[in-house]
Amino acid sequence: MTSDRLAHLSLARAVVDRDAMHRGDAEWLRRAWAADSSRVVRVHDGHVAVVGDPPRLDLDVRPDVDEQQRFFLGVDGGIAYFAAVVDDAEPETFQGLRAVGAVLDAREAGLVVHAVSLANWHATHTHCPRCGGPTRPDAAGHVRRCELDGSEHYPRTDPAVIMSVVDVEDRLLLGRQATWERGRFSTLAGFVEPGESLEAAVRREVGEEVGVRLGSVRYLGSQPWPFPSSLMLGFRGEARSTELTLHDGEIAEARWFTRPEILDAIRSGELRVAPTISIARRLIEHWFGGELPTNVNPP
Ligand SMILES: [Zn+2]
Repeated sequence: MTSDRLAHLSLARAVVDRDAMHRGDAEWLRRAWAADSSRVVRVHDGHVAVVGDPPRLDLDVRPDVDEQQRFFLGVDGGIAYFAAVVDDAEPETFQGLRAVGAVLDAREAGLVVHAVSLANWHATHTHCPRCGGPTRPDAAGHVRRCELDGSEHYPRTDPAVIMSVVDVEDRLLLGRQATWERGRFSTLAGFVEPGESLEAAVRREVGEEVGVRLGSVRYLGSQPWPFPSSLMLGFRGEARSTELTLHDGEIAEARWFTRPEILDAIRSGELRVAPTISIARRLIEHWFGGELPTNVNPP
């Protein structure tokens, strides 16, 4: 598997043209919203409206919301896509990205992460960080503007690094977070700190969590992860040491795996790796060189 394949497989695929040029055109947006062909991702509390089994996005309902509650997502094949934040939702028709991400196609997954990321941001940025005044959505949901001082505020994305760490014997390092159940392992990850490069963040996190020193660090691909607003940046780091020292308490257990060991551990149910929609799974499979089996009977 190449890094191109990693990028292709990740949730980062954006097939809908975001068409940012039209975000400031109120008349065009009104006509697009009213058009019969337009489609709407309804969002409620981080969940999206779905229909059917396996679920697909339910895009056919035009909810009765005002302009402040709808965001323009873009255009695909002449069809305009919007997101709308709705107050009332039947719980069984709304599902989270974790539940439906693996079964949605690339276009739908891209719409969902865009819609949910914007909705999360609007829900938590109702006031101006400069003066404390109320802010209101602008630019079809891609800006919030302060009603008192007019300042513009943009959707927030928090960069996080996630990395496969591979030693000179080509073994992969996986860790179990202290809050995870036994048997669940994944790649290490952490947030980028202010003023820090991505590569430095990779080295720091690996050093803090397991005490391993890294040589070269190489970027592989990214994935938006709207829980609530992360962008996961995937790397591969070459380990220059193999002794594991768990420093900061975040990682409860860490292990080096050969390819046969990881296969055996998954097949026996001893090991559970990240779900197929996650970049963690893609990083592990990138090292492995192909798709890994999924536990039939998880521990
Ligand atoms: Zn203000």
